[in-house]
Amino acid sequence: MTATEALRGGQTDGAALAGKVAIVTGGASGLGRATALALAQAGARVVVADVDAGAGREVADLVGGAFRACDVSDLDANRALVDFAQEEYGGVDIAFLNAGVMTGCGVGEDFDLARYRRAMGANLDGVVFGTHAVLPALRARGGGAIVATASLAGLAAVPLDPLYGANKHAVVGLARSLGPALAPDNVRFNAVCPGYAESRIIDPLRGMLSEQEMPIIPAEVVADTVLRIVTGDSTGECWFVQAGREPEPFR
Ligand code: NAD
Repeated sequence: MTATEALRGGQTDGAALAGKVAIVTGGASGLGRATALALAQAGARVVVADVDAGAGREVADLVGGAFRACDVSDLDANRALVDFAQEEYGGVDIAFLNAGVMTGCGVGEDFDLARYRRAMGANLDGVVFGTHAVLPALRARGGGAIVATASLAGLAAVPLDPLYGANKHAVVGLARSLGPALAPDNVRFNAVCPGYAESRIIDPLRGMLSEQEMPIIPAEVVADTVLRIVTGDSTGECWFVQAGREPEPFR
């Protein structure tokens, strides 16, 4: 039984993360939603952050947490999100920096500056700004855990969306570098690298790739991996989560 299934069935042991406070960006949908559920099932109080206020509030209600509208590409919005979590729950211990979008343009005739900026803002700035904003709060608690959502696209070529691939490679690079850099603060920084996972972000690919080319895992498998990272002791690692394989970390 996954953590999320247990929460839905009312079986909340609340042990592993009891007393912890978690921020989940991109928490309104897909992997963020599933991870908000998993973190809550493990006992954390969860602040759901997203640009989609309607769906975000629903997830916050579902997990008994709080919602904060936040565009992660805006540095001040990240700071306001952390302030909100501290005011609401007294501190922050965990940040799942997960908000993201496909770019949807290339570098040739199909280049679109607005799409490029939007993707960079969500996929990369969101991780950098979110980390910068949350660090003082984590230090104030004596340390904590940050998990950023990278992707298989951060490890392999992505001809269908090369700029998305560049964003996600950068997130993998951040995990490798920030893991050791943040160790003196007792802050662990890891990335999760899903293959294709059930969410609306992969809708545009469904008609383009076959089932063999695009084996899809449930969002809950990614959520359970994030939970494993948060409750473990790894840092500077990228956790690859793919259909038919046990999630595995590498540096
Ligand atoms: P999704 O579209 O279901 O969820 C993404 C969420 O991020 C949405 O709720 C959206 O409103 C939010 N968001 C987008 N831009 C934002 C911004 N600027 N500020 C705040 N919120 C914003 O897709 P998902 O698959 O759950 O995506 C979550 C993360 O997982 C993304 O970083 C994505 O790149 C990554 N990822 C997904 C897959 C997959 O196959 N689903 C695989 C690898 C990585």
